Amino acid sequence: MNSRRLRRTARLTPPLLLAAALTAFALAPTAGATPAASAVPTAVPAPKQPEATGTGGAVASVSAEATDIGISVLRHGGNAVDAAVATAAALGVTEPFSSGIGGGGYFVYYDARRHKVFTLDGRETAPSTADQNLFVENGQPLGFWTAVDSGRSVGVPGSLLTWQRALDRWGTRSLAQSLHPAEQLADHGFVVDQTFHDQTAQNQTRFSYFPATAALFLPGGQPPAVGSVFRNPDLAATYRELEHKGVGALYRGDIGRDITQVVQHPQVDPASGWYARSGAMTPADLAAYDVRAQAPTEVDYRGLDVYGIAPSSSGGTTTGEALNILGHFDLAHASQVQYLHDYLEASRIAFADRNRWVGDPRFVDVPTQALLSQRFADSRACLIRPDSSLTSPLAPGDPVHPSGGCVNAGTPAPTTPEGTHTTHLTVADRWGNVVSYTLTIEQTGGSAMTVPGRGFLLNNELTDFDFTPAVAGVPDPNLPGPGKRPRSSMSPTIVLKDGRFDFAVGSPGGASIITTVLQVLTEHVDRGLSLEQAIAVPRISQRNLAKTEAEPAFLGSVDDAGLTALGEMFTLNPEIGAATGIQLLPDGRLQAAAEPVRRGGGAAAVVDPDE
Ligand code: GLU
Repeated sequence: MNSRRLRRTARLTPPLLLAAALTAFALAPTAGATPAASAVPTAVPAPKQPEATGTGGAVASVSAEATDIGISVLRHGGNAVDAAVATAAALGVTEPFSSGIGGGGYFVYYDARRHKVFTLDGRETAPSTADQNLFVENGQPLGFWTAVDSGRSVGVPGSLLTWQRALDRWGTRSLAQSLHPAEQLADHGFVVDQTFHDQTAQNQTRFSYFPATAALFLPGGQPPAVGSVFRNPDLAATYRELEHKGVGALYRGDIGRDITQVVQHPQVDPASGWYARSGAMTPADLAAYDVRAQAPTEVDYRGLDVYGIAPSSSGGTTTGEALNILGHFDLAHASQVQYLHDYLEASRIAFADRNRWVGDPRFVDVPTQALLSQRFADSRACLIRPDSSLTSPLAPGDPVHPSGGCVNAGTPAPTTPEGTHTTHLTVADRWGNVVSYTLTIEQTGGSAMTVPGRGFLLNNELTDFDFTPAVAGVPDPNLPGPGKRPRSSMSPTIVLKDGRFDFAVGSPGGASIITTVLQVLTEHVDRGLSLEQAIAVPRISQRNLAKTEAEPAFLGSVDDAGLTALGEMFTLNPEIGAATGIQLLPDGRLQAAAEPVRRGGGAAAVVDPDE
C-alpha cells in the first residue's frame, strides 16, 4: 500500500479533492464546458487505494470520490449510517449505471451499543397492476433486452426511502445534510476514468434509444472521454429539491410524477427504431412503497455469527445454507483443491434449493428458517463426495421435511439469468457501528431510461423475476405479481465474533454475488487470508449450472487441473464480482479493503491512517 498517497487522499475534504481534480482539468486548454461531460482528456481520475489500515472509522466503495465523502462525514462526527448514506448518494453521481435513487438495495447495520444487527429491504416492487404475465406477450415471454430497455422493467424505487429510514432509525444527520456533498459532486463533476468510459461505451446503443439518456451520458453522441470532467447538473438539482422537500418529492410529488410519466410513456428517439414497452407504475404505486425492516438471516459458522439479508433477497439464505453445509468439512486443513471442491459443491447445492424455494415472502411461503437450519444442511452435505463433482442441474431438497437418507430426487429449477452489475459499500465508525450496503439499478445502465431533466437512470429490477415458470408443473416462487419484489442475490454481510463486530463484506455480480461473498468468507475465515487478500484471489462460481464460471487467472492453474480431474467443467467469466469489506484487526485498528483490479479497482480509506 502507498500509505503516503492514501493519507493525502483521505485527509482531503470532498470539495478540496474536487478542487484538485478540477484544477488539473483547468490547467488544460478547455474547450468550453458542456452541460455534462467536456471532451478535453487531460485531467487525472482521482487516485484509488484498495487497502487502508488505521483508526477513527473506515469506508470502502468502488469510487474514490464516494469513499472520500464518506470519510469526510466520519471525520466530522457522523456515524456509520450517516457516512453510508452520503457515500451511497455520491455513488449515484459517480456510479450512475449501478446505483442511484432510481434503484433499490439492501442495508445491513450493526449497532455497537446494542450488539445487534438490523436490516432494511429497500428492494424495488412491481406496480399494483402487475400479474404473472408481466413479461409475456401473445403467449410468449419477451426477449430479455426487449424487457430491459422499457418502462415494463422498472420497479418502484426503494433507495431514497432506505436512506431516509436508515437515518431516522440509526443516523445522526438529516437527509439534506447527507445529500449535500453528493449534490456538490454532481454540480462540480468528477474526472472520467476508464471504467466509467467503458461502461458508457458498452451501453452506447441502448442509451441512444432514449434522448434524455443520450443527452446526459453521450455528449456529442459519444461516451465521455477518459480524463474529461463529467457533470450532472440535473441530478444536482434533483438532490437539491430532495434536500428542501424531503423524500415526499419522489414518493408523492413532482419527481415521482416525472418517473411515472416516463415509465408509462417512454420517450424514444424515432430514428432508433426501438419499441420500448410501457410500464404501468402510477403515482399511487410510489405512494404505497415502503421499506421493510426485517430480521437478518443468521448462521453460526466456526463459532462466528454470520448475518445477512433475508428474502426478498436469496443472499442470506443461500450463503447461510452453503456455510452450514461447509461446516461439515475441515476447510482450514484441506488441500487447496479439496477446499475449492467443497466450496463449489456447497454452492451448487444451495443454489438448487434457492431456485426452488426463495421469492418474496409476502407472496410465497418461503421456508427461510428451514433453509437456514443445520438439520437441512446435514441432509444436503452428505451429497458431497471428496473424489468427484456433482452434476448440475441438481434437484432441490425439501427444507421443511429433509430426507433422512440423503437422496436427491425431484425436478431441478434452473438458475435464471440476472444482471451482473450493482455496487457495494462498507462503512465502520469510531464507535464500532458498521454498515454493509448493496445497491443497484440491476443491469449496468438499468432500463437505459433517464428521467428527463432529473439526471438519474431508472432500474430494470423487475427483469429479476422469472418471465415464465422455471419448471412446468413446479411452483415458481419468483414469478411477477402485484406489489411483489423480484428475488435478489444481493448479500450484504456482517460477521460478529463473541457478539462484537469482526468483519463485513458484500459485492455486486448478479447471482454470482452469493458465490463471491461465500468465497471471500471462506478464504478469510478458513484459509487464513486477510480480507484484502481474500477479495483479490481469482474467483470461481458454481450456481447449479453445468459449467462452473472461472476468472482468467484461475483457468489453466494447478487448481483448475485438480478440480477438472474431479469432473468439474469450467467456462470463462472475465470478471466475477467487485467486493468491498472492512475487518476489525485484533489490535483494534480497522482495515478497509476493496478490489485491486476488478471494476478498475476500488477505494478503501480510513479516517486516521497508520503512519
Ligand atoms: N439485480 C441483481 C440482484 O438483485 C443485482 C444486479 C447485479 O449485481 O448485477 O441480485
